Amino acid sequence: MTGQAMIQNPVPWPNGAKCACCVTFDMDADSLIHLDHPKDGYRRASAISMLQYGPNVAIPRIVETYRRLGIRQTFFIPAWCMETYPDAVEAILKGGHEIGQHGYLHENPVHQSREEQAEWMDRSIEVIDRMTGQHPRGWRAPLYNFSNHSAELLIERGFRYDASLMGDDVPYIVDGKGGSFVELPSHWGLDDWPQYVQSMDLDYMMPIRSPKTGWEPFVQEFEAAYRHGGLWVPVVHPFATGRLSRWEVVASFLENVLSRGDVWFAPMEEIAAHVEKVTQNGQYTPRRVAMPQYAGPVTV
Ligand SMILES: [Zn+2]
Repeated sequence: MTGQAMIQNPVPWPNGAKCACCVTFDMDADSLIHLDHPKDGYRRASAISMLQYGPNVAIPRIVETYRRLGIRQTFFIPAWCMETYPDAVEAILKGGHEIGQHGYLHENPVHQSREEQAEWMDRSIEVIDRMTGQHPRGWRAPLYNFSNHSAELLIERGFRYDASLMGDDVPYIVDGKGGSFVELPSHWGLDDWPQYVQSMDLDYMMPIRSPKTGWEPFVQEFEAAYRHGGLWVPVVHPFATGRLSRWEVVASFLENVLSRGDVWFAPMEEIAAHVEKVTQNGQYTPRRVAMPQYAGPVTV
């Protein structure tokens, strides 16, 4: 390994931790099928069962692992999935985990007008308020589809962070109309769909990796974040990474890295709050990005 510091502006993490980590599970359940196939999605029983494995089987397993390891993490859940799978929501809340907003039926904000996006966002916030007793602090756009209206809509509604963008190795600040929020970036290399998802119904066909091979990119990403003071935010899905053999691999990885004693696992809201705190007290100067970046199509 080279001794070069590869992150120019690492965040001072709490208690001298080498990196900040949050395994974010997006519990999309079968919203994807009904969204992709509005006419006949309800008839696609096998695909539905594959996706329902998430709330019904994987969530209790994941929550139990976290309880055993003594960590709290974040789950992003479309509001329709919360209403349809209240037991999964209850198990997550009982474990002390954070629930972040992730659309209503996983609809795509980039295809919506500002008014449409605002309407679905408000409908989803109402469900989170009602089912968790707390206003959502964070948002991840369905399929990372952060639109040119998203920053302004999030600021208007008091969101503290977003988790949809991919612009850095460490958190940064997004400035929009009327305010700002913390961006906790991830990227496709930390997403489990390319490793494990093969579904003709979802038109997504990847060669399925073995559990250890599929998790290997996440391990390498972790080690780089650990060496350089980065942020490690896997974007994983209960129906994919929560399957028996795969979760066995992840659970033993988590146990191992936690035993190092110098990594910080926390819900996304706590990582965002830490970044706000060290920014305000002058310990840290984050990079700032104004959004939306472009007012219209780029012409040359
Ligand atoms: Zn999703």
